Amino acid sequence: MPNPLRNLPSVSQLLESPPLKKMVDTVSHNTVVGGVRTVLGSLRDRVSSATEDINIPSANELAETIASWIKKNQQPVLVPVINATGVILHTGLGRSPLAKEAVDAINEVAMGYCSLEFDLESGQRGQRVHCVQQLLCELTGAEAATVVNNNAAATMLTLGALGGGGEVIVSRGQLIEIGGSYRLPEVMETSGAKLREVGATNKTHLRDYEDAIGEETRALMRVHPSNFKIVGFTKEVSLEDLVKLGRKHGLPVIDDIGSGALIDFARYGVSEEPISSASIDAGADVVLFSGDKLVGGPQCGIIIGKKKYIARIMKHPMMRAMRVGKLTLSALWATLRLYQDLDKAELSVPILQMLSTPLENLHLRSDKIAKQIELLPFVESAEPVQDHAMLGGGSLPTEKIDTWCVAITPQEKTIEQITTALRTSSPAVVARVQKEKILLDMRTVQPSEDLKLVDVFSNLFES
Ligand SMILES: *Cc1c(COP(=O)(O)O)cnc(C)c1O
Repeated sequence: MPNPLRNLPSVSQLLESPPLKKMVDTVSHNTVVGGVRTVLGSLRDRVSSATEDINIPSANELAETIASWIKKNQQPVLVPVINATGVILHTGLGRSPLAKEAVDAINEVAMGYCSLEFDLESGQRGQRVHCVQQLLCELTGAEAATVVNNNAAATMLTLGALGGGGEVIVSRGQLIEIGGSYRLPEVMETSGAKLREVGATNKTHLRDYEDAIGEETRALMRVHPSNFKIVGFTKEVSLEDLVKLGRKHGLPVIDDIGSGALIDFARYGVSEEPISSASIDAGADVVLFSGDKLVGGPQCGIIIGKKKYIARIMKHPMMRAMRVGKLTLSALWATLRLYQDLDKAELSVPILQMLSTPLENLHLRSDKIAKQIELLPFVESAEPVQDHAMLGGGSLPTEKIDTWCVAITPQEKTIEQITTALRTSSPAVVARVQKEKILLDMRTVQPSEDLKLVDVFSNLFES
């Protein structure tokens, strides 16, 4: 039997073919050669492992295949998405979008050198997080502050610095898991501190903490159960009482508040999110929260609290492994600055903008978009419906935010076909599927994206 592989065109033959020859103008010669080798290689593998005859494509067909393979590989993997899920802090979609002011601040320092660890007045080496320390203290009432890569890092570092080599006491009702890979008991173990669980899942009393305090105790910790709620016969110790107990025994109280609101979100109908300044007021020694949840800034972990504890945390060797760079710090600084004027923050910080949009506004937008989408051939009906948006995948499921959506019933195409086409269009659109309908939640679609959204729908099955 003749070896079908002998009919494969050679690399040099393919490189001379018109489609690939043309490509060398837009991508490098090495990229084209790499593409030719990869596609040829996988074709060879397929032919030699095939149990029946495989048609060997002609040189021209093969060149076309390789050209489109290279084109696809030149596309970035990280692309913009229109978030129509209604989940405001969607971790899979990059959590909080940044304010324009934050992006401008990144732009200012990204391409050149900057004063990251350099005090321009004295010409001496400076403190990296200096630029945001004062703002964080001003906005939260804390004595001192520092910033690391995310709240998981903030927790691990704080536990290592204040609890390492000893025990940290936590209520059994607060041993949270967030997003699968974050589990407080495991974070604690990795930090070098020993977890001392007290109380029961539904009830923990002050005396449970008190009874557990001993020689080995280094700190008391409270964790905000961001993504679940124990209801019924429950009891948790208040932060104030925990602080009193800590003082009595000379132990610091660490408060992991999770989302870390800088303002009271009750104004948006979100009432269960702890406010960072309230924890400081209640006397917590160290308060931990994320920068990209309710702060609405870049991914980072914010640590605020008493000077002596923050100093200890910053001296810990893990601090260096978790530090943030100039892009994060400039974006955080610009975001925090917006909070100095709440009206300005509501206009500029995207998550505050989304939460403060009046319901009637969402209704009008969903109505307008529905009318345009309903005209499309694969749509049986599209209509505005009132529903509930959510703060975040990792926030309380009971915290529902009123919203308006466009509810779409397809015809000729399935829901799956449409949502797949939406996800792979440009820009990509991620929607919510509920009760056999595709819902586009206007709470998380920015007004500037409305036209794009209709455009994506109109071109969905065009090519
Ligand atoms: C989200 C969350 C974390 C993890 O924060 P990241 O910034 O995602 O690392 C830790 N603790 C609580 C209570 C949280 O809600």
